Amino acid sequence: MKNLSQCTVRVRGLAKAFGANQVLRNVSLEVAKGEVVVIMGPSGSGKTTFIRSLNLLEMPDRGSIEICGIELAEPATLAGVELRRKTLQIRHATAMVFQSFNLFPHMTALQNVIEGLLSVKGVAKVVARERGLALLGKVGLLEKADAYPGKLSGGQKQRVAIARALAMDPEVILFDEPTSALDPELRDDVLGVMRDLAQEGMTMLVVTHETKFAREVADRIIFMEGGHVIEDTVPEQFFGAQASERSKQFLGRLT
Ligand code: ADP
Repeated sequence: MKNLSQCTVRVRGLAKAFGANQVLRNVSLEVAKGEVVVIMGPSGSGKTTFIRSLNLLEMPDRGSIEICGIELAEPATLAGVELRRKTLQIRHATAMVFQSFNLFPHMTALQNVIEGLLSVKGVAKVVARERGLALLGKVGLLEKADAYPGKLSGGQKQRVAIARALAMDPEVILFDEPTSALDPELRDDVLGVMRDLAQEGMTMLVVTHETKFAREVADRIIFMEGGHVIEDTVPEQFFGAQASERSKQFLGRLT
C-alpha cells in the first residue's frame, strides 16, 4: 500500500489525446513531499487534463504515474482488475478540488465533508462528525455546518470542498482552478485556506491564474503550452526580470 517515505509524485512521459486532439505530449514532472507546485499556461494547453490524469479522472494513453510509491505504468496495457486496484490506491492518496465545487446539493456542509469518511472509509458516524466539525472549523465555517450548499456563497462552497478533500486524509491535493468561478472578493478566503495548507506542509499541485498566490506560495511554477511543460522554474525567475519572453507575454495578457 502507501509508502510514506516515498510520498513524492513522479510523472513520466504522460500522453493523452481526445480523438485527434493530442492534449498532453510527453509530460514529465516530479513533486517532492510538501512542495507546492503551481501550473500555469494559456487556455487549452492541457493543464486541467494533466491534473485530472494524476487522479485518473482522465486515463492517460501512455506514460507512468507514481504517487506515494504506488506506480501505475502504461495504464493502457493493464488488465481491468489490476487497473482498478491501482486506480483506487492512487485515488486514496490524492484528493481533488474542482473549479465547480461539486458538492452534493441535498446534503448539509457537514454531511458533504463526512460523506467519504462514512461511505469510503467506513468511519463511525460520531467520529466522522467530530472530524468533520474540526475541518469546518479549520476552513472558518463551523457556523455553517448545517447549511445546505444553496445557502452558501461560492467561496464558502469551495472551503467546504477543501474540508471534504482534507477529510480523506490525502497525501497530495490537486486543485483545478479553485477560484476561477468566484467573484474577486470571495477568492481571498479560499486562497487563505490554501496558503495555510501549504504552510502546514501539504503537497499541492494547483492549476491557477492567481499570480499573487503563485508568487507568494508556490515553490515551483510549471508553465504548460501545447501539451508540453515548457518551463519548470521558481517564482522569482518566472515572475522576475529574468523571465522568458514567453512567460512575460503570457503574464502580460493575464493582467
Ligand atoms: P487547460 O486546462 O489548459 O485550459 P484542458 O486540459 O482543459 O486545457 O483542455 C485541453 C484541450 O483538451 C482542449 O482542446 C479541450 O477542448 C480538450 N478537452 C479537454 N477535456 C476533453 C474531453 N473530456 N473531451 C474532449 N476534449 C477535451
